[in-house]
Amino acid sequence: MERKKTKKIMVGDVAIGGDSPITVQSMTNTITKDINATIKQIKELEEAGCNIIRSAITDSDDAKAIREIKKHINIPFIADIQYDYRLAIEAVKNGADCLRINPGNIGSDIKVKEVISACKERKIPIRIGVNSGSIKQEYLNKYNGVNANSMVESALEHVRILERMGYDEMKISLKASNVLLTIEAYKKISKMVDYPLHLGVTEAGPVWNGTIKSAIGMGSLLSMGIGDTIRVSLTGYPVEEVRVGREILRSLGLLQEGVDIISCPTCGRTRIDLIELVKEAEERFKFIKKPLKVAIMGCAVNGPGEAKEADIGIAGGKGEGLIFKKGKVYRKVKEELLLDELLKEIEDL
Ligand code: SF4
Repeated sequence: MERKKTKKIMVGDVAIGGDSPITVQSMTNTITKDINATIKQIKELEEAGCNIIRSAITDSDDAKAIREIKKHINIPFIADIQYDYRLAIEAVKNGADCLRINPGNIGSDIKVKEVISACKERKIPIRIGVNSGSIKQEYLNKYNGVNANSMVESALEHVRILERMGYDEMKISLKASNVLLTIEAYKKISKMVDYPLHLGVTEAGPVWNGTIKSAIGMGSLLSMGIGDTIRVSLTGYPVEEVRVGREILRSLGLLQEGVDIISCPTCGRTRIDLIELVKEAEERFKFIKKPLKVAIMGCAVNGPGEAKEADIGIAGGKGEGLIFKKGKVYRKVKEELLLDELLKEIEDL
């Protein structure tokens, strides 16, 4: 797939847009000023592979907490501000690497200018974002309700404010909970601007439904070369968002890190508890950073052949199983040792 070339911006030391790798973001759900809880959660998210974190800044104590939080984390921090320009400035002064704020919501030009000049000093980008639920009435009237046109026009209004004030360090999101509308809106804006796009299907729902909606929405856009950074929004623990986000990228060949598990759906030939084996493998593979395709197959008859694109794999049998590499049987192992031996082989790789 050919990726649309967008402007490259820097969020802390992480590049977004241009030819930089597509990043996975998440948002903490702790009270930001509860510094210990927020740091703990961000560390967990880092461990899961989160590239950039965002937290809600609701008052001055949240903004002040950024300084301490930043000392303990290794990924860039985005301050999510709703309307209050003073909080935006305070967040920047306390070390935020990016702001999530809509200039059109800040108020007078003087207030917007103050925010921009704080950002300019440290070249801190701003994420502009429109959700299908927050489109300005003017555009709802003009375009007959919520649709890609009203979403795009609403976002462009914020873009123009920043451009008029001479600031172009920005990225844009256009999220809807409706998957097709999300796709249409991003496709449309992608033809109109070169700023990097932050993809997301908003309020996607609980983990299971939300994963499917996000994979379809963001996966479709990414497969068209649209999108520079992604956030999966799930009603669940944020680590799940990162896991799903990374898997979406991995499925499209956009993330070359960690284990891609290939496993069969099981059938009447399966003689081992493959479902449990795969669950355990998922847990134990989490810490492997090397990009590998690992197969876990239910039977020795079809397993090695069906999974020959895997770097290494195991196939279950009766009381014992096979370890195979690139489809060729390598050795036999007792069933209870299959996973341990597979991990040893992976370490050797
Ligand atoms: Fe069935 Fe073997 Fe294929 Fe798994 S690999 S689905 S057990 S035939």
